[in-house]
Amino acid sequence: GTYVASEDRYDSLEFRTCGRSGLRLPRLSLGLWQNFGGDRGLEGQRRILRRAFDLGVFHFDLANNYGPPPGRAEENFGRILSEDFGPYREELVITTKAGYVMGPGPHLRGGSRKYLLSSLDQSLKRMGLDYVDIFYSHRPDPDTPLEETMLALHHAVVSGRAMYAGISSYAPSLTRRAAAIMRDLGTPLIVHQSSYSMLNRWVEDGLLEAAADEGMGVVAFSPLAQGLLTSRYLDGSVPTDSRAGIGRPSWRENMLTEEVLGRARALNQIAAERGQTLAQMALSWVLRDQGPRTVTTALVGASSAEQLEQNLKAVENTDFSEEELRDIDRWAVD
Ligand code: NDP
Repeated sequence: GTYVASEDRYDSLEFRTCGRSGLRLPRLSLGLWQNFGGDRGLEGQRRILRRAFDLGVFHFDLANNYGPPPGRAEENFGRILSEDFGPYREELVITTKAGYVMGPGPHLRGGSRKYLLSSLDQSLKRMGLDYVDIFYSHRPDPDTPLEETMLALHHAVVSGRAMYAGISSYAPSLTRRAAAIMRDLGTPLIVHQSSYSMLNRWVEDGLLEAAADEGMGVVAFSPLAQGLLTSRYLDGSVPTDSRAGIGRPSWRENMLTEEVLGRARALNQIAAERGQTLAQMALSWVLRDQGPRTVTTALVGASSAEQLEQNLKAVENTDFSEEELRDIDRWAVD
């Protein structure tokens, strides 16, 4: 039937200002990288999106290439948006990106002005939108001048196609240069999207600091290490409907080793002592207080509404004792 959003949707999930901007993001956000392509039923997708918004998850992260096939996640999302979320567009934070391979030839990849702006127009068409809330450069392109990529983001904003601009997976020094260019242009970069989990801490080596210095919020993607930091694989078997079981290109064979499983089981034990599931602790940990370097939001994926619902409980328990943090490091860090 017709979707009517829950009236108390803003009552339980906290949100946070994204960097030095007026944009607020819920502490847990939903990504549509996987589980929203042509190989998943539309009704399951609709169920996840409705439940998310009802629970206060109003930030949905996409990219031009999400599928499979590339573009299909935006198409499916656009369809559900028009059928269910029409009255709520202004409440939603919808983001997209360009940078990874979208098709053949030199202009469906990279960081050129040509690719970024033509791709954004295609994304808007697929989603049936007049604007996105954040447009990202999906990754740095060493073969395009940084100035050109930043000018394209700036133009996306001044032309009304995007409300704000962001970058993803840029190294700390490049992040600082990009931020300076955008400040000069008059469209500040307000957000950096980067991978971050108990098992993947590269951002702690200068990126969180650069983002804080430049007034950028941090959106942490793959906080569950694509499912490794959940109960999915703990018993040593691989469920056929899981990301590992389906054999997604993003899932590398060597990710699920006995060694990694051993770490996950030890971390699961620590989580249990905190009264959390492993997935919940993994999210609480990413969201823990780090002063000015605190992550703005954890960007999760979900193959069911139930997964998302369980994960939301993590936001209520982001305090860790020194001892817990040390224990976690003992198992999570090489
Ligand atoms: P996660 O690390 O959150 O992994 C999500 C997967 O974990 C789910 O698909 C599900 O696996 C499993 N999972 C989630 N919750 C539970 C639970 N409660 N119990 C058991 N299993 C659970 O993130 P993703 O790797 O999916 O990335 C999240 C988002 O980040 C993407 O959708 C995208 O928006 C963004 N991203 C951005 C990138 C960039 O370059 N900027 C790169 C990668 C991601 P299963 O499907 O097996 O059930």
